[in-house]
Amino acid sequence: MTDLTGKTAIVTGAGSGIGRASALLYAEQGARVIASDITEAVQETAAMAPDSITAHQGDAADEETIKALVDTTMQSHGGLDIFFANAGISGGFEGIFEQSVEEWEKILRINLIGVFLAVKHGGKAIVATSEANDNRGGSIIATASVAGLRSGAGGPAYTASKAGVINLVKIAAQQLSGSNVRCNAICPGLIETGMTSFLYEAARRKGKEQMVGNLNPAQRGGEPNEIAEAALFLASDRSSYVNGHALVVDGGLSTSHPYTRQPFGKTAT
Ligand code: NAD
Repeated sequence: MTDLTGKTAIVTGAGSGIGRASALLYAEQGARVIASDITEAVQETAAMAPDSITAHQGDAADEETIKALVDTTMQSHGGLDIFFANAGISGGFEGIFEQSVEEWEKILRINLIGVFLAVKHGGKAIVATSEANDNRGGSIIATASVAGLRSGAGGPAYTASKAGVINLVKIAAQQLSGSNVRCNAICPGLIETGMTSFLYEAARRKGKEQMVGNLNPAQRGGEPNEIAEAALFLASDRSSYVNGHALVVDGGLSTSHPYTRQPFGKTAT
Protein backbone atom coordinates (compact mmCIF):
# COMPACT_ATOMS: atom_id res chain seq x y z
CA MET A 1 0.00 0.00 0.00
CA THR A 2 1.50 3.35 -0.98
CA ASP A 3 -1.09 5.95 0.00
CA LEU A 4 1.26 8.93 -0.21
CA THR A 5 3.28 8.20 -3.32
CA GLY A 6 4.33 11.43 -5.02
CA LYS A 7 3.29 13.58 -2.06
CA THR A 8 5.48 15.93 -0.03
CA ALA A 9 4.86 16.27 3.70
CA ILE A 10 6.19 18.46 6.52
CA VAL A 11 5.96 16.97 10.01
CA THR A 12 6.83 19.11 13.06
CA GLY A 13 7.86 17.68 16.41
CA ALA A 14 9.42 14.86 14.38
CA GLY A 15 12.42 14.31 16.63
CA SER A 16 10.49 12.07 19.01
CA GLY A 17 7.27 10.22 19.79
CA ILE A 18 4.22 10.74 17.59
CA GLY A 19 6.02 13.02 15.11
CA ARG A 20 8.88 10.59 14.52
CA ALA A 21 6.50 7.63 14.10
CA SER A 22 4.39 9.64 11.64
CA ALA A 23 7.36 10.86 9.59
CA LEU A 24 8.55 7.24 9.28
CA LEU A 25 5.10 5.96 8.33
CA TYR A 26 4.60 8.73 5.75
CA ALA A 27 7.99 7.83 4.26
CA GLU A 28 7.12 4.13 4.24
CA GLN A 29 3.93 5.01 2.37
CA GLY A 30 5.82 6.79 -0.40
CA ALA A 31 5.96 10.43 0.72
CA ARG A 32 8.98 12.68 0.67
CA VAL A 33 9.11 14.01 4.21
CA ILE A 34 10.66 17.07 5.78
CA ALA A 35 10.97 16.16 9.45
CA SER A 36 11.27 19.27 11.61
CA ASP A 37 12.01 19.65 15.29
CA ILE A 38 13.57 22.18 17.61
CA THR A 39 16.09 19.57 18.80
CA GLU A 40 18.91 17.76 17.03
CA ALA A 41 17.08 14.48 17.58
CA VAL A 42 15.40 15.10 14.24
CA GLN A 43 18.67 14.07 12.57
CA GLU A 44 18.16 10.58 14.04
CA THR A 45 14.66 10.46 12.56
CA ALA A 46 16.01 11.34 9.11
CA ALA A 47 18.79 8.76 9.46
CA MET A 48 16.12 6.05 9.90
CA ALA A 49 14.86 6.62 6.32
CA PRO A 50 17.57 8.68 4.61
CA ASP A 51 16.18 8.22 1.07
CA SER A 52 12.82 9.74 1.99
CA ILE A 53 13.28 12.01 5.00
CA THR A 54 15.14 15.32 5.19
CA ALA A 55 15.85 16.83 8.61
CA HIS A 56 15.09 20.45 9.48
CA GLN A 57 15.90 21.99 12.84
CA GLY A 58 13.78 24.95 13.93
CA ASP A 59 11.04 26.36 16.13
CA ALA A 60 7.54 25.41 14.91
CA ALA A 61 6.11 28.48 16.65
CA ASP A 62 8.38 31.02 14.95
CA GLU A 63 6.73 32.62 11.93
CA GLU A 64 9.93 33.35 9.96
CA THR A 65 11.14 29.78 10.53
CA ILE A 66 7.91 28.19 9.30
CA LYS A 67 7.55 30.56 6.34
CA ALA A 68 11.16 29.81 5.31
CA LEU A 69 10.62 26.05 5.79
CA VAL A 70 7.55 26.11 3.55
CA ASP A 71 9.24 28.33 0.90
CA THR A 72 12.33 26.10 0.83
CA THR A 73 10.19 22.98 0.55
CA MET A 74 8.26 24.46 -2.37
CA GLN A 75 11.54 25.18 -4.17
CA SER A 76 13.37 21.95 -3.35
CA HIS A 77 10.43 19.52 -3.66
CA GLY A 78 8.31 21.36 -6.21
CA GLY A 79 5.27 21.55 -3.94
CA LEU A 80 3.72 20.72 -0.57
CA ASP A 81 0.74 18.40 -0.05
CA ILE A 82 0.64 17.63 3.67
CA PHE A 83 1.50 19.60 6.82
CA PHE A 84 1.31 17.67 10.10
CA ALA A 85 1.54 20.33 12.84
CA ASN A 86 2.40 18.07 15.72
CA ALA A 87 5.03 19.87 17.82
CA GLY A 88 3.88 20.49 21.35
CA ILE A 89 4.81 20.75 25.00
CA SER A 90 2.82 19.76 28.04
CA GLY A 91 3.92 22.58 30.34
CA GLY A 92 3.19 22.64 34.01
CA PHE A 93 0.55 20.67 35.87
CA GLU A 94 0.04 23.38 38.51
CA GLY A 95 -3.49 24.52 39.17
CA ILE A 96 -4.98 27.57 37.52
CA PHE A 97 -4.22 29.76 40.53
CA GLU A 98 -0.54 28.82 40.46
CA GLN A 99 0.25 29.17 36.76
CA SER A 100 1.88 32.35 35.48
CA VAL A 101 1.06 34.39 32.39
CA GLU A 102 4.54 33.50 31.08
CA GLU A 103 3.74 29.77 31.30
CA TRP A 104 0.44 30.31 29.51
CA GLU A 105 2.14 32.35 26.77
CA LYS A 106 4.83 29.68 26.27
CA ILE A 107 2.33 26.82 26.02
CA LEU A 108 -0.16 28.67 23.81
CA ARG A 109 2.67 29.86 21.56
CA ILE A 110 3.94 26.38 20.74
CA ASN A 111 0.74 24.34 20.92
CA LEU A 112 -1.73 26.78 19.33
CA ILE A 113 0.16 29.51 17.46
CA GLY A 114 2.36 26.78 15.97
CA VAL A 115 -0.74 25.23 14.39
CA PHE A 116 -1.93 28.67 13.22
CA LEU A 117 1.40 29.14 11.40
CA ALA A 118 1.10 25.72 9.78
CA VAL A 119 -2.35 26.66 8.48
CA LYS A 120 -1.28 30.16 7.42
CA HIS A 121 1.94 29.31 5.58
CA GLY A 122 1.54 25.59 4.92
CA GLY A 123 -2.08 26.07 3.84
CA LYS A 124 -1.25 28.62 1.14
CA ALA A 125 1.48 26.38 -0.27
CA ILE A 126 -0.74 23.29 -0.24
CA VAL A 127 -3.54 25.14 -2.05
CA ALA A 128 -1.06 26.37 -4.68
CA THR A 129 0.33 22.84 -5.14
CA SER A 130 -3.16 21.41 -5.49
CA GLU A 131 -4.18 24.05 -8.05
CA ALA A 132 -1.05 23.28 -10.09
CA ASN A 133 -1.93 19.55 -10.08
CA ASP A 134 -5.55 19.30 -11.32
CA ASN A 135 -6.94 20.34 -7.92
CA ARG A 136 -5.78 17.04 -6.41
CA GLY A 137 -6.21 18.37 -2.88
CA GLY A 138 -4.09 18.32 0.23
CA SER A 139 -4.24 17.95 3.97
CA ILE A 140 -3.34 19.84 7.13
CA ILE A 141 -3.36 17.81 10.33
CA ALA A 142 -2.80 19.11 13.85
CA THR A 143 -2.20 17.17 17.03
CA ALA A 144 -4.73 18.24 19.64
CA SER A 145 -5.48 15.93 22.60
CA VAL A 146 -8.31 14.43 24.59
CA ALA A 147 -7.22 17.17 27.00
CA GLY A 148 -8.83 19.60 24.55
CA LEU A 149 -12.23 17.91 24.93
CA ARG A 150 -12.65 18.33 28.67
CA SER A 151 -10.56 19.01 31.75
CA GLY A 152 -8.54 16.45 33.69
CA ALA A 153 -5.95 15.27 31.17
CA GLY A 154 -3.34 18.02 31.49
CA GLY A 155 -2.55 21.37 33.04
CA PRO A 156 -4.93 24.30 32.51
CA ALA A 157 -2.92 26.05 29.80
CA TYR A 158 -2.26 22.78 27.94
CA THR A 159 -5.95 21.90 28.03
CA ALA A 160 -6.96 25.35 26.78
CA SER A 161 -4.33 25.22 24.01
CA LYS A 162 -5.61 21.87 22.74
CA ALA A 163 -9.24 23.02 22.84
CA GLY A 164 -8.02 25.93 20.73
CA VAL A 165 -6.49 23.52 18.21
CA ILE A 166 -9.79 21.64 17.86
CA ASN A 167 -11.57 24.91 17.13
CA LEU A 168 -8.81 26.16 14.83
CA VAL A 169 -9.07 23.18 12.46
CA LYS A 170 -12.79 23.89 12.10
CA ILE A 171 -12.09 27.55 11.28
CA ALA A 172 -9.37 26.48 8.83
CA ALA A 173 -11.66 23.95 7.12
CA GLN A 174 -14.16 26.76 6.56
CA GLN A 175 -11.58 29.26 5.34
CA LEU A 176 -10.16 26.69 2.91
CA SER A 177 -13.64 26.16 1.39
CA GLY A 178 -13.55 25.19 -2.26
CA SER A 179 -9.80 24.53 -2.27
CA ASN A 180 -10.01 20.73 -1.84
CA VAL A 181 -7.53 21.16 1.03
CA ARG A 182 -8.80 19.66 4.29
CA CYS A 183 -7.84 20.44 7.87
CA ASN A 184 -8.35 18.02 10.77
CA ALA A 185 -7.10 17.35 14.29
CA ILE A 186 -6.16 14.17 16.12
CA CYS A 187 -6.96 13.83 19.82
CA PRO A 188 -4.62 11.21 21.27
CA GLY A 189 -5.22 9.75 24.69
CA LEU A 190 -2.24 8.77 26.81
CA ILE A 191 0.62 7.68 24.53
CA GLU A 192 4.09 6.60 25.63
CA THR A 193 6.44 9.26 24.23
CA GLY A 194 9.07 11.70 25.44
CA MET A 195 6.27 13.84 26.85
CA THR A 196 4.87 11.10 29.09
CA SER A 197 7.99 9.03 29.79
CA PHE A 198 8.21 10.43 33.35
CA LEU A 199 4.80 8.93 34.11
CA TYR A 200 5.61 5.52 32.63
CA GLU A 201 9.01 5.43 34.31
CA ALA A 202 7.53 6.32 37.70
CA ALA A 203 4.92 3.55 37.31
CA ARG A 204 7.59 1.02 36.27
CA ARG A 205 9.80 1.99 39.21
CA LYS A 206 6.90 1.17 41.52
CA GLY A 207 6.06 -2.04 39.65
CA LYS A 208 2.66 -0.53 38.73
CA GLU A 209 2.89 -0.23 34.95
CA GLN A 210 -0.53 -1.85 34.52
CA MET A 211 -2.03 1.08 36.48
CA VAL A 212 -1.30 3.39 33.52
CA GLY A 213 -4.22 1.93 31.59
CA ASN A 214 -6.58 1.04 34.38
CA LEU A 215 -9.10 3.82 33.59
CA ASN A 216 -9.03 2.98 29.87
CA PRO A 217 -11.40 0.42 28.25
CA ALA A 218 -8.36 -0.77 26.27
CA GLN A 219 -6.61 -1.39 29.62
CA ARG A 220 -3.38 0.13 28.34
CA GLY A 221 -1.79 3.31 27.11
CA GLY A 222 -1.24 3.85 23.39
CA GLU A 223 1.82 3.62 21.14
CA PRO A 224 3.05 6.44 18.88
CA ASN A 225 2.42 4.22 15.86
CA GLU A 226 -1.29 4.04 16.68
CA ILE A 227 -1.48 7.83 16.34
CA ALA A 228 0.70 7.78 13.22
CA GLU A 229 -1.87 5.47 11.57
CA ALA A 230 -4.56 8.11 12.17
CA ALA A 231 -2.22 10.80 10.83
CA LEU A 232 -1.71 8.67 7.71
CA PHE A 233 -5.46 8.26 7.21
CA LEU A 234 -6.05 12.01 7.52
CA ALA A 235 -3.10 12.81 5.22
CA SER A 236 -4.21 10.42 2.48
CA ASP A 237 -7.09 10.60 0.01
CA ARG A 238 -8.75 7.78 1.99
CA SER A 239 -10.12 10.53 4.24
CA SER A 240 -11.22 12.68 1.29
CA TYR A 241 -14.58 13.59 2.91
CA VAL A 242 -13.26 14.10 6.45
CA ASN A 243 -12.84 17.81 7.13
CA GLY A 244 -12.81 20.06 10.20
CA HIS A 245 -12.95 16.96 12.38
CA ALA A 246 -11.23 16.12 15.68
CA LEU A 247 -10.47 12.39 15.49
CA VAL A 248 -10.21 10.83 18.94
CA VAL A 249 -7.63 8.01 19.17
CA ASP A 250 -7.57 7.08 22.84
CA GLY A 251 -8.60 3.44 23.33
CA GLY A 252 -11.91 4.72 24.67
CA LEU A 253 -10.46 6.83 27.50
CA SER A 254 -12.69 9.85 26.83
CA THR A 255 -15.93 7.88 26.64
CA SER A 256 -16.56 8.19 30.37
CA HIS A 257 -16.79 10.97 32.91
CA PRO A 258 -14.53 10.69 35.94
CA TYR A 259 -16.00 8.57 38.69
CA THR A 260 -15.99 10.36 42.02
CA ARG A 261 -16.17 8.14 45.07
CA GLN A 262 -18.74 9.15 47.67
CA PRO A 263 -17.32 9.81 51.15
CA PHE A 264 -17.67 6.77 53.42
CA GLY A 265 -21.18 6.34 54.75
CA LYS A 266 -22.82 8.69 52.26
CA THR A 267 -24.79 7.71 49.18
CA ALA A 268 -25.59 9.75 46.12
CA THR A 269 -29.05 11.31 46.13
P1 NAD B 1 7.41 14.14 22.49
O1 NAD B 1 7.92 15.02 23.58
O2 NAD B 1 7.95 12.78 22.36
O3 NAD B 1 7.54 14.89 21.09
C1 NAD B 1 7.29 16.27 20.95
C2 NAD B 1 8.36 16.83 20.04
O4 NAD B 1 8.04 18.22 19.80
C3 NAD B 1 9.76 16.79 20.65
O5 NAD B 1 10.67 16.18 19.77
C4 NAD B 1 10.09 18.25 20.89
O6 NAD B 1 11.48 18.55 20.75
C5 NAD B 1 9.27 18.93 19.80
N1 NAD B 1 9.04 20.34 20.06
C6 NAD B 1 8.68 20.93 21.22
N2 NAD B 1 8.60 22.25 21.07
C7 NAD B 1 8.90 22.52 19.77
C8 NAD B 1 8.97 23.69 18.99
N3 NAD B 1 8.74 24.89 19.53
N4 NAD B 1 9.30 23.58 17.68
C9 NAD B 1 9.56 22.38 17.14
N5 NAD B 1 9.51 21.23 17.82
C10 NAD B 1 9.18 21.30 19.13
O7 NAD B 1 5.85 14.10 22.75
P2 NAD B 1 4.64 13.55 21.85
O8 NAD B 1 3.71 12.92 22.79
O9 NAD B 1 5.11 12.78 20.68
O10 NAD B 1 3.99 14.93 21.41
C11 NAD B 1 3.51 15.17 20.09
C12 NAD B 1 2.19 15.87 20.17
O11 NAD B 1 1.23 14.98 20.72
C13 NAD B 1 2.15 17.11 21.06
O12 NAD B 1 1.44 18.15 20.41
C14 NAD B 1 1.42 16.65 22.29
O13 NAD B 1 0.78 17.71 22.95
C15 NAD B 1 0.44 15.68 21.67
N6 NAD B 1 -0.18 14.70 22.57
C16 NAD B 1 0.58 13.78 23.23
C17 NAD B 1 -0.04 12.85 24.07
C18 NAD B 1 0.74 11.81 24.83
O14 NAD B 1 0.16 11.14 25.71
N7 NAD B 1 2.01 11.60 24.54
C19 NAD B 1 -1.44 12.89 24.25
C20 NAD B 1 -2.17 13.85 23.56
C21 NAD B 1 -1.53 14.74 22.73
